[in-house]
Amino acid sequence: MAGTLLDGAAIAHQVYSQLKERIRELHVRGVQPGLAAMLIGENSASRIYIRNKAQACHDAGVYSEVHRLPADCSDEQVYATLNHLNADPRIHGILLQLPLPPQLDSERLLQAIAPAKDVDGFNWVNLGAMVAGRTLLAPCTPLGVMTMLDHARVPIEGRSAVVVGRSAIVGKPLALMLIARGATVSVCSSKTPDLRQYTSFADILIVAVGSPGLVDGSMIKQGAVVIDVGINRLPGGKLVGDVDFASASRVASRITPVPGGVGRMTVAMLIANTVTAAERSVGIT
Ligand code: NDP
Repeated sequence: MAGTLLDGAAIAHQVYSQLKERIRELHVRGVQPGLAAMLIGENSASRIYIRNKAQACHDAGVYSEVHRLPADCSDEQVYATLNHLNADPRIHGILLQLPLPPQLDSERLLQAIAPAKDVDGFNWVNLGAMVAGRTLLAPCTPLGVMTMLDHARVPIEGRSAVVVGRSAIVGKPLALMLIARGATVSVCSSKTPDLRQYTSFADILIVAVGSPGLVDGSMIKQGAVVIDVGINRLPGGKLVGDVDFASASRVASRITPVPGGVGRMTVAMLIANTVTAAERSVGIT
């Protein structure tokens, strides 16, 4: 392997160390940051994600609670819980674990989370602030990618960045964050006729699609920094990203592994956003 590994676990560890001091400062003021998660139905992946997030809270000294509703619950039941949590002063961050059962209106329910407690950063107020070049509470995965780039001292201003994937929770916010930092950004999607034409000129290439091996080493510029957001479970159970790691790591200067890359950062950013929300609740900006 020629490229250096961008180790999400190691960078997340540094993030948690820096958060400790901020959490200690909040404790001195009598505030324990608190995160409430809502888990609806029995999706096994969601249950694992919620368990990991609760463990991360526990390890960081953040209070957490989980509110469960049955798979056949109504929008009104979810609104009632969200309203209760919006008003609860012990809770600084609220997350609604996606995906929701099909009868629920995910988009509208996400808008019911108070923007100041929206630690997943999916509320339109928080997403819209990024269009204005401001970050209030940013979506965790894009924020995790930017934090990884910064920890690895990857220059962004003036660089060519290509984001593959244009979802509202990963690709689009990431593109806005890169634009705010002065990168020249291209965003590709399933409608892009010749993906290689874009990926091959990227200094920073970020792939967030959900398609194993979509990008291989032949599509990557020599020395590029490659961030693989994708998480795909192969039929045998193995977890892989969207980038063919073996060929890409021979061309890239830095590259994230899957697992052990962006995923670790996403959880760390959820905790960081909860701490930020708690700080703002007592006037620390
Ligand atoms: P979505 O399904 O919402 O979006 C996927 C995007 O990829 C769409 O914009 C789609 O284009 C685009 N796309 C699909 N096929 C192609 C193709 N052949 N070429 C170029 N673009 C394509 O997914 P998410 O953004 O939610 O997640 C993306 C991946 O990241 C998934 O694997 C997910 O599991 C992972 N993920 C990982 C996280 C982590 O913590 N590491 C957190 C969140 C997600 P179009 O818009 O035209 O349909």
